[in-house]
Amino acid sequence: MNDLAIQGNALLPLDLSQPIDGMLLNNQWQAGHGELFNVMNPSTGEVLARVKTATAADVPTAVAAAKRALPAWKYAAPAERAKVLRQIATGIASAAAQLEAMQQLNSGKPAFEASLDVADAIATFEYYADLISNDDRHSEAEVALPDDAFEGEYVLEACGIAGLIVPWNFPMVTTAWKVAPALAAGCCVILKPAELTPLSEILLANIIAQSGIPDGVFNVLVGAGSDVGAAMVDHPEIDKISFTGSNAVGRKVMAAAARFTKPVSLELGGKSSLVVCEDADLDTAVDLALKGVFFNAGQMCSATSRILVAESIYPAFKARFVAATEAMVCGAPSVENVEMGPLISEAQLNRVMSYIRAGKEAGAHCLTGGERVADSSGYFIAPTIFENVPEESAIWKEEIFGPVACLMTFQTDEEAIEIANHSDYGLVATVVSQSKTRSQKYTRQLHVGMVWVNSPQVIFPHTSWGGMKQSGIGRELGPWGLRAYQQLKHVVSLKESFTL
Ligand code: NAD
Repeated sequence: MNDLAIQGNALLPLDLSQPIDGMLLNNQWQAGHGELFNVMNPSTGEVLARVKTATAADVPTAVAAAKRALPAWKYAAPAERAKVLRQIATGIASAAAQLEAMQQLNSGKPAFEASLDVADAIATFEYYADLISNDDRHSEAEVALPDDAFEGEYVLEACGIAGLIVPWNFPMVTTAWKVAPALAAGCCVILKPAELTPLSEILLANIIAQSGIPDGVFNVLVGAGSDVGAAMVDHPEIDKISFTGSNAVGRKVMAAAARFTKPVSLELGGKSSLVVCEDADLDTAVDLALKGVFFNAGQMCSATSRILVAESIYPAFKARFVAATEAMVCGAPSVENVEMGPLISEAQLNRVMSYIRAGKEAGAHCLTGGERVADSSGYFIAPTIFENVPEESAIWKEEIFGPVACLMTFQTDEEAIEIANHSDYGLVATVVSQSKTRSQKYTRQLHVGMVWVNSPQVIFPHTSWGGMKQSGIGRELGPWGLRAYQQLKHVVSLKESFTL
């Protein structure tokens, strides 16, 4: 399984039996100065590859490469940058099979999930290529002034060197959401993939390195977050940090960046709700509940793990949801028709199991699941549903990042909105209702960055992504995602002063 279709594509010369270089500088791979890090296959619990990681000492070398490349890339015509982005999208599309295979190996994602991630990455690079080539307002424009003696314009220019730090749950997607807009804006980039899942990003980086991108514009340091990641945040010549990950680390990143008044974008955790109203179509509700909490084995910042159900339809919803959950096929990506894969690591499995135990101890009733899947050396937990969950319990309040759903009933829309908003987080929500008026009441009153109505969690590059409250700062995707890598400058000139 480890050799799975990775060979045979010139863009992706990766031999998993040999130690893999974890540092891309000036479009050349090299060994980092760190330890050999074992990357695991979460479906088998076996070592998949060994990566020669970078250390904090490698960060200044990457910064120097980016700094040399910055002036030419920053001031290049947007069309030139767009051409590179399109080439990257084409490269990803032509290597889709290998990228999907690697996502299956390194992340344990079922084939349909792996292919969604690759399609998302292609769409994101294409979107930002279109955005900067079709519309000048994304780099400069005139500003109408109230005094005819003056003329004004604004310029949006690249903020400089961007440090991009990503997590392990959607490595291709979170990387594309940062790299594409940063390159489009004219930033040079240093990307730090998560230690657990560097392989699909190494493949993606190979594609980027062969896209015609100038040396030094795009650099990669695979390494430990507390070492390489922290050193990136702490480097005075990295002008911007965009971080996706846990709240605990996000807070450290923000505190360290404050030392240089360095701007940060933070995409952090969530504890989101799916609200099933009394007029919901039950088939839709069950389908969205399953996808919302068991996709990627629940390892989603946007997991709608708090499922609020109108009391009048609770028995019918519960029966169908439990039956559908028990019918799910769980296993390795190689299992036929598999719907849910493993957790990413043994540590993550232990973390989720400790939440499940805490839920039981707090008096919540486990309707199904709640156990590690037997007969497997991989990191599998059965999809789990709790009811009668105390509102103060950890499983109700905290992000579990595993396949664990908590059910709760409500009587009125006002009560459902209050329960949904009663959270430190504010990332997303899903509303299931056949009434447009009722669903609009929810979409206006929920304190979250994205609401889906009767819809799966589709994410278009055109819409924004990000959260309210402790779910983060800033937005990715859309024009807002580009702005995250730009500085705004206004120019005001006295018209009569020009004689030449
Ligand atoms: P994490 O915070 O442990 O790690 C994220 C990244 O930060 C990794 O690359 C890690 O190596 C690095 N890192 C660790 N310590 C660091 C430090 N001191 N300085 C700089 N970088 C450091 O998160 P994780 O476990 O990889 O990912 C899971 C978390 O990510 C969850 O909380 C999830 O909700 C969140 N997430 C959020 C979004 C979103 O869009 N809001 C998307 C995906 C994941």
